[in-house]
Amino acid sequence: MDLLNTLLEIQDLDLRKSEIEKQSASIPEQKKAIISTLKKDKSAYEDLNAQLKEAEKACKDLNHEIDKLKQQKAKIMIQSGETKDNATYTKLVKEAETYDARVDDMESSFLESLDKVEEIKKQKKVLADQLKSMLGKIEQDIKDLDLRHKNLLASLPETEAERAKLAKTVDEETLIHYERVFKSKGGLRAVIVPITHDDSCGFCHLKLSTKDISSAAKGLGECLECGAFLHK
Ligand SMILES: [Zn+2]
Repeated sequence: MDLLNTLLEIQDLDLRKSEIEKQSASIPEQKKAIISTLKKDKSAYEDLNAQLKEAEKACKDLNHEIDKLKQQKAKIMIQSGETKDNATYTKLVKEAETYDARVDDMESSFLESLDKVEEIKKQKKVLADQLKSMLGKIEQDIKDLDLRHKNLLASLPETEAERAKLAKTVDEETLIHYERVFKSKGGLRAVIVPITHDDSCGFCHLKLSTKDISSAAKGLGECLECGAFLHK
């Protein structure tokens, strides 16, 4: 194989390696993004739990208050039944009656709280179903990503070995020069490029001189503008 074709193959392998590394590096971020959507829904569920607890406590407290008021009223009624004094009797009955409005108010508050409890329970159920199906999907997505990561990493040694074998056949100076240019352009783009049909550099697209073109025609030329290697 001539120098140009060997270098082109080395470049292909370098690009493959860069792509593998780029994709591998992006996997932890992808996993994090998946998990963070789950965290948001989980915390919404926990919020609902806290709301439910509060609403249930309000129900219980109101119930307790209602019982207390009813007992107090009953006590007053007993007192009124026991009194021999008419004025005291009237006073006690009136006092007992004031409890009715308070009990009514509390009972309607109690019903409102009960509605709230039911409403929160409904919301919880919807969210729980959502979470359940989401969890299944996320588990699968994470598994897929892990497998992809594993496969990507597993393909690296082979690529590297192939590259090392080819690199041995190229003179050191040329190889180092190529590696330097490849790295300086970010390592994700080909730097050994063909001259375009309108005689421009395939990397920076600058119009080339006749001299540049004729040197590239002999094998490997160089773009004086961007440093890319040129071939016909
Ligand atoms: Zn160029």
